[in-house]
Amino acid sequence: MINVTKTFLPPQDEYQAILKRAWLNGWITNRGELVKELEDKLKRHLNTPNIICMTNGTLPIQIAIKALALKGEIITTPFSYVATTSSIVWEGCKPVFVDIHPEYLTIDETKIEAAITERTSAILATHVFGNPCNVDAIKAIALKYNLKVIYDAAHCFGVTYNGKSIFQYGDINTCSFHATKLFHTGEGGAIIFKDKDLYNDLYYHHNFGHDGQENFFGLGINAKMSELQAAMGLAVFPYLSSILENRKRIVDFYNEQLYDTGLKFLKLRDKTHWNYSYYPVIFQNEAQLLKAVKALNSENIFPRRYFYPSLDNLPYIKNQYCEISNTIAASILCLPLYDDLTEKEQINIIELIKTNV
Ligand SMILES: *Cc1c(COP(=O)(O)O)cnc(C)c1O
Repeated sequence: MINVTKTFLPPQDEYQAILKRAWLNGWITNRGELVKELEDKLKRHLNTPNIICMTNGTLPIQIAIKALALKGEIITTPFSYVATTSSIVWEGCKPVFVDIHPEYLTIDETKIEAAITERTSAILATHVFGNPCNVDAIKAIALKYNLKVIYDAAHCFGVTYNGKSIFQYGDINTCSFHATKLFHTGEGGAIIFKDKDLYNDLYYHHNFGHDGQENFFGLGINAKMSELQAAMGLAVFPYLSSILENRKRIVDFYNEQLYDTGLKFLKLRDKTHWNYSYYPVIFQNEAQLLKAVKALNSENIFPRRYFYPSLDNLPYIKNQYCEISNTIAASILCLPLYDDLTEKEQINIIELIKTNV
């Protein structure tokens, strides 16, 4: 069976050797040495000054909204994973959808201003498939209207834009280290930010609000990453460059083989150094997509409809239809892309796509 992705598993003995350190320390959570070591490695690798590892990629979004004390309306994208929208609603704010750009697939920055009201407190946008939003335009709008900017950068591990880590833009960035993501800790994630003054606030928020054992800084939740999660991250870490190399080779081959099929592809924003995190293709319509999916499924190949449905269709969202997002969601499919997808498997996928478009 071939799925859209396959978790990269490091050699088990290497994982065990790192886990052994947790055993020897008798310390498996609450910021032991493995979490700290992972944070140090990530800071250097991603070239970002402040990072707090967390237990998944969703709680950082909720914590960002909470810590920035956002209220009222948050402008966001309908084309993302459900966690982007659900976090806004979970924190008692109202998501206001702005439709996406049909080629970049990120929030259409030219439509943001029209959606701003006196209740708007922030923009929460997703760098979809690791493709950066128009961060400069969004920054200008945020300054003009005094809004905070949060990026759901779950797909962005290692992406740079204009020569800087994509995590250096916006007030707060969140990332996911879920097993299906490019870099993973099984379950896991991080909050990443430029302003050092936010550190304490975000840190306390992710640890129940504790300030020492007997004092409380304020309201908090439990979003701590455990040592067991960090051990997985440390075991995956040395393989990052080979993972990227393999993904690049697979993406290049898809590009080379599929360019003249009439399918459309993700348009990367200029000045982006991408991470080969997903391989979405856009069919002419949903019927054509379903035909290809059926053919692939019959050979035990399971691509994924990321992102489907468009988030304006969630049961807790009313009357916010976004035309472009719905059209894209109906016709986009992510093809299998992972470290050890073989050329033979990939050729089979390509042939099935070609005969069904
Ligand atoms: C994976 C993902 C998340 C959620 O991350 P988890 O680690 O699964 O909680 C949030 N946003 C986007 C865009 C994602 O793809």
